[in-house]
Amino acid sequence: MSTLSILGSTGSIGTQALELVRLHPDRFQVKALTAHRNAELLFRQVREFRPELAGLTVPIPRNDIPADLGFCRFVMGPEALHAAAAEAEADQVLVSVVGIAGLQSVMDALSAGRQVLLANKEALVTGGHLVMEAARRAGKPLLPVDSEHSAIFQCLQGAGGNRPTGILLTASGGPFRTWDAARIARATRKEALHHPNWSMGAKITVDSASMFNKALEIMEARWLFDMPPEKIRVVVHPQSIVHSAVEFEDGAVIAQLGVPDMRLPIQYAMTYPERISTGAPALDLFTLGQLTFEPGDPARFPALRLAGECLRAGGAACTVLNGANEEAVAAFLREEIAFGDITRLVEDALEHLDGLPANTLEDVFAADRAARIRVKEALSR
Ligand code: NDP
Ligand code: MG
Repeated sequence: MSTLSILGSTGSIGTQALELVRLHPDRFQVKALTAHRNAELLFRQVREFRPELAGLTVPIPRNDIPADLGFCRFVMGPEALHAAAAEAEADQVLVSVVGIAGLQSVMDALSAGRQVLLANKEALVTGGHLVMEAARRAGKPLLPVDSEHSAIFQCLQGAGGNRPTGILLTASGGPFRTWDAARIARATRKEALHHPNWSMGAKITVDSASMFNKALEIMEARWLFDMPPEKIRVVVHPQSIVHSAVEFEDGAVIAQLGVPDMRLPIQYAMTYPERISTGAPALDLFTLGQLTFEPGDPARFPALRLAGECLRAGGAACTVLNGANEEAVAAFLREEIAFGDITRLVEDALEHLDGLPANTLEDVFAADRAARIRVKEALSR
């Protein structure tokens, strides 16, 4: 039996993690759950999974907490994440909030000696060197949940200590894989939210369409696997069956395959190194018939180029890319800007905020704020 806290339990990753807890009640016990605004769903989850702590980062009046949930301690406001990450005594903390809020949560969980299961990309994208150092100090290597990084991590289980010489990071290519640049620039909200293979939260679905998701994943891989950006190659693989691969000195390539279902990577982190049933359908290669691969196209998807540029620039460049993209995607989802404006706003922020440092968490948060302000200013013009 292992005890688990879930930060962001009402989201796409959080609810799937709870499905796995429901499937294996003898294996997992929930200690803490947090949501941002979705109090209704959080209450239902508390009623079912009976955690000792629950948090809402957007506070509501205490009177609105249902009377039958008196067994659970509710924490309201920004402290909710800290309480769930560090105060609740869980073996594992699944960080599945969306956004830079994940960075402080990962640091808090590591300081408290918890095993972090990391879905939130932004923590590594913005504070990669700080997070990796904290994990080393705590002696608790991060367990990746993002499907590509879980795949790479799984491939490395068979490496016998040999360091990979490269990473093949697969990408579905998203809904605009075959579109020309002009059509992509005019894409609508509905078109961007229609992902061919994965069902995910809105922000990451838009990022899959622009391939900013892959840019963030290159940054994640750089830190998780200590791999220079030029050795991380994006391979567009529309079937999303090969979840990524590692290359070795002798020319061998080890890949991980499976149906595109996040319950696999989520549960692998929860039960590592053990494998138990997830309820996901089995992979049938005969039905699939063929798997195809093509190179990523930085001309139509500039995010692929920006990832390497930001990593090489160092400092807070990745944080600026992430913060500017988050604001731009939010504006796109509000239907205030065109799809093509997302990249333009990110490039403008990167040019304007060149050379910001990222030596401390405060530096990172300051760069994130500066990027958001820059985008908001551009939007108001
Ligand atoms: P969702 O938007 O579905 O869920 C986000 C969760 O975080 C919800 O519980 C939400 O609460 C909460 N939340 C939102 N904003 C804040 C905030 N400012 N502070 C604290 N909590 C907040 O996202 P996903 O589950 O899709 O993604 C979560 C993370 O995992 C992201 O970093 C994403 O990139 C990463 N990821 C997701 C994958 C997927 O398949 N979905 C795959 C790989 C990585 P509420 O519901 O109340 O708004
Ligand atoms: Mg992914």
